Amino acid sequence: MQVEAGLNLELLDNQGWDSRIEGVQVGTLVRSHLIYTQNFTVIYDTLLGPLSGDFLAQRVQQRAPEKPVLVVVSHSDWDHYWGNQCFSCPILGLDLAAQRILGEFGAGELAQKSLEDPSYAQVRLVAPNVRLQGEFSLHGGDLTLQLLHTPGHRPDHLALYIPEIATLLPGDAVETPFALLDEGQPATQLAAMQTTLQRLLELDIHWLLCNHAPPQAGKALVESNLAYYRGLIEAARTSDSLDLMLQCFPYTGPADQDFYRKDHERICAAAWEAR
Ligand SMILES: [Zn+2]
Repeated sequence: MQVEAGLNLELLDNQGWDSRIEGVQVGTLVRSHLIYTQNFTVIYDTLLGPLSGDFLAQRVQQRAPEKPVLVVVSHSDWDHYWGNQCFSCPILGLDLAAQRILGEFGAGELAQKSLEDPSYAQVRLVAPNVRLQGEFSLHGGDLTLQLLHTPGHRPDHLALYIPEIATLLPGDAVETPFALLDEGQPATQLAAMQTTLQRLLELDIHWLLCNHAPPQAGKALVESNLAYYRGLIEAARTSDSLDLMLQCFPYTGPADQDFYRKDHERICAAAWEAR
């Protein structure tokens, strides 16, 4: 089906991960995950707006009509929470995420995207109504959903780990070819990113279900994201100029991905400033 900006939404085929988790993909842009526990269903991110959000709301009613639903917002970037308006259930997220959504950051993103495509003009910003600090766990009976505060990409970022099935939903903290560093406070978030990735790598991970990378077995992508940030910090420390740093630490992602190439340069400049 088509959703916001004419993008195609599809329910992913299960490629071997636990069948209590469903993945939903929108174009090549982003994914959301639905987790069906014994006690309740959790929607980890609500996608781009009322069309894609409504698909998620209907899907959980279809598969588990008798179970309560909870939404968890991974972080305050538009492509992860603009479907919130489709839900009257508890919407959980960090207090900081709510502040960003209700402040200049949220309003700025909405103004910008509304110019890009008229379907975004239908979005009403809805912040988490259960606003938490630090970390928390949701006890689903058969599955424990551990929400890990994992700054770096954004200061308000929550990854979701399920120990019983060794499955990590890292949100945007792990991505192909590398996780994107927060633009707002790059110096503090750079150190946080390294700590976050080190911590995630220590987890037992059989399946890695990312927002911006294909579903995959194992933790190789966590390792390569950490190697990227370690290499970056080392290159900043040992280079005599930003130009030399870019030479010794070049972009090695997909050649056709200008977005990541530009972001690599931005992240290098931030690391150079922060050294
Ligand atoms: Zn993001």
